[in-house]
Amino acid sequence: MEARHVIILGSGPAGYTAAIYTARAGLKPLVFAGPQRGGQLMWTTEVENFPGFPEGVMGPELMDRMRKQAERFGAEIVDTQVASVNLSSHPFVVSAGEDAYESQALIIATGASARWLGVLGEEQYKGKGVSACATCDGFFFRGKDVVIVGGGDAALEEATFLTKFATHVTILVRGEALRASKPLQERARGNEKITFLYYTQVEEVLGDGVKVTGVKIKNSQTQEISELSVGGLFVSIGHQPNTGMFEGQLELTKGFIVRKPDTSLTSVPGVFVAGDVADWNYQQAITAAGLGCMAAMDCEEWLASQE
Ligand code: NDP
Repeated sequence: MEARHVIILGSGPAGYTAAIYTARAGLKPLVFAGPQRGGQLMWTTEVENFPGFPEGVMGPELMDRMRKQAERFGAEIVDTQVASVNLSSHPFVVSAGEDAYESQALIIATGASARWLGVLGEEQYKGKGVSACATCDGFFFRGKDVVIVGGGDAALEEATFLTKFATHVTILVRGEALRASKPLQERARGNEKITFLYYTQVEEVLGDGVKVTGVKIKNSQTQEISELSVGGLFVSIGHQPNTGMFEGQLELTKGFIVRKPDTSLTSVPGVFVAGDVADWNYQQAITAAGLGCMAAMDCEEWLASQE
């Protein structure tokens, strides 16, 4: 079994930052990039709030730059998917493909995945008009009316993006107010192709067996049920942490990995955590990167203490 000082799981801003720091510390990290190399920013268009890019930067470019920076200092990054980890004994064992690796320390930066509504028709029409990624699929909705569910930053950003293709975008908000930041709200409100429906939830995705033809919606104030004729439904209601592999091995809360306050330490010594997988509050690229730095520094200190 190949032996390592540190293995990093995940390749978003948290994983790559942890890789840069541990590589510079001479720990020769092995990074498993995970199912989505580069993480969620690979599906984003322009990132306007990452410091150091006054003109903005495209999400994939930002991630490519982070990867190159980590590799420059000697991080080994592989695109193989990790099947399991065993944290019950030390060194920890990470299994991926045909291979297994022993590692003294582990940094978990597996991020989060899109949440779905769980309504009738959603599963059936995924990829046939139902999507959780406007950036990936928006192009296919040229000339169509679409709806997007959610009232957060992501929903408003994606709605604005969708107006490049769709004839009209209706944003379905389940409550009385949006959660998104003021600038994004103003931008969406100023877009004549966007309208908002409040107190509205999707009851069912309607289709002709091949593609989406509409949605059945319910107004939670009046209980009125109606149908909207649309060619697409985008779901943008937040993300859930990717922690399936760690259930029963690490302390979790609401699915997120618990980290000791002001540190990246988890319930298992030698296992550190960074990014959205442990962050139910901020979920920003820059906070993920900051947590990646913390995890690397905590990891380096812990490894030194073991010698
Ligand atoms: P959020 O958790 O911020 O918002 C989720 C939205 O979905 C809320 O409006 C919520 O409604 C709604 N919602 C949740 N569940 C359901 C459901 N079952 N049915 C209908 N609506 C539902 O998630 P985001 O993905 O928007 O953002 C995540 C984080 O990423 C945030 O911190 C955000 O600031 C950040 N982000 C920042 C961006 C930027 O700065 N440019 C861009 C994108 C994301 P309710 O409010 O009623 O709970």
